[in-house]
Amino acid sequence: MTTPTHTDDTLAPGAPPLTPRVAIVTGGAQGIGAAIARRLAAAGLAVAVLDLNVDVAEATAAGIVAAGGTAIAVAVDVGDEASVAAAVATVAERLGAPQVLVNNAGVLRDNMLFKMRADDWDLVMNVHLRGAFLMSRAVQAHMVPTKWGRIVNISSTSALGNRGQANYAAAKAGIQGFTKTLAWELGPFGVTVNAVAPGFIATDMTRASAERMGLSFDELKANAAAASAVRRVGSPDDVADAVAYFAGTGASFVSGQVLYVAGGPHG
Ligand code: NAP
Repeated sequence: MTTPTHTDDTLAPGAPPLTPRVAIVTGGAQGIGAAIARRLAAAGLAVAVLDLNVDVAEATAAGIVAAGGTAIAVAVDVGDEASVAAAVATVAERLGAPQVLVNNAGVLRDNMLFKMRADDWDLVMNVHLRGAFLMSRAVQAHMVPTKWGRIVNISSTSALGNRGQANYAAAKAGIQGFTKTLAWELGPFGVTVNAVAPGFIATDMTRASAERMGLSFDELKANAAAASAVRRVGSPDDVADAVAYFAGTGASFVSGQVLYVAGGPHG
């Protein structure tokens, strides 16, 4: 295991040194979150892989450690206040105060409005919006005293409207308002808050969408690629690279932004 070291000339005068830096990635067990966790670990951060599915999170963390990085897996349900408090306390105890938070955990419960059940609405709001709120509130308590922090929220092109996703689109648009508000509130304390809004990314989430739509995954990917300006679908690494930019020291003057990582102009 390597101990990441880091210096940062964007620190406020008199602020404590930031070595090592610690990142939390929610929903980090698989898909986009796992790629973000690996990307941040490769940049020298100690990464806490938080997920509902702790067994898969353990495997992801083990892969990072095997590659020479520092990572732990911690169980969390981001929509549950006590679970969030316990998980963030565990990270602080085992790795140190978190200075980067990536709110990535997500679920889909797609349906047309007239068929959408109230509990499918509530679950999507609970994981994306309440989850980002609870995690950000818990983690900012560690960031504000050090006058340095990075919060990156994962939104979606669905925030702009997408048939069959009233719940998800509302949550992902809500994430953007949440991001801009936190940017105002936390900016004075050296904490930047930005959002990355991916388009179609090949993961288990989009594989499950294909099944629901009665298409093969290859068919759905081909359709998404044809609809994209760059004629391909995205990979989790495409999103991880954008998150790494916002999480880095070079982005200290960039806050409240939404970056569409979607192979074309959106937003
Ligand atoms: P994914 O493969 O389904 O991964 C999501 C992860 O979040 C899973 O490990 C899941 O655990 C975890 N999770 C779900 N509910 C949770 C909770 N309450 N607490 C903690 N962890 C929880 O999805 P993905 O495609 O990588 O998506 C990651 C993020 O990107 C999501 O916010 C998604 O909305 C967003 N996004 C994805 C795409 C895309 O095309 N894939 C596009 C735009 C935005 P379980 O497996 O146990 O449920």
